[in-house]
Amino acid sequence: MSKRILRKKEQREKKKIALERINILFTLAERVFPYDEELANRYVEIALAIQQKAKVRMPRKWKRRYCKRCHSFLVPGVNARVRLRQKRMPHVVIKCLKCGHIMRYPYLREQKEKRRKRLEAKGENKAQS
Ligand SMILES: [Zn+2]
Repeated sequence: MSKRILRKKEQREKKKIALERINILFTLAERVFPYDEELANRYVEIALAIQQKAKVRMPRKWKRRYCKRCHSFLVPGVNARVRLRQKRMPHVVIKCLKCGHIMRYPYLREQKEKRRKRLEAKGENKAQS
C-alpha cells in the first residue's frame, strides 16, 4: 500500500474515533445535566475541541444541543426555548436562555422526508385495495 493511501486510511480512522468521542461526551453531558450543569458544559467544550481538531462535522443528533455562542449544553424547556416558524422558510428557532443567543435551523429536509413517507404510505394503500 502506498504511503498516501495509508495516510488517508489513518485520517479516516482518526475521524471515526473523534466522532465516537463526541457522541460519548454529549451522551454524558445529557446524563449529568440534571445534576451538574457545569460538568455538562465542560463535556460540550471537550467535544467541540475534538470536533475542531479532527475537522469532522457535528453529528446531526447533537448539532442543536449546544449554544453556538456560550457553548452551554441545551435542554429544551430547561435552558433553551424551541419554536417553530413558518415565515419564508420553515425553520426551528432555538434560543439559549443562558446568553440569549438565537439559532435558526431550516427543517425543509425533515418536511420533505415526511412528505415522501406520506406518499409512500398512500402508494401502499393503493396497492392493497
Ligand atoms: Zn448561549
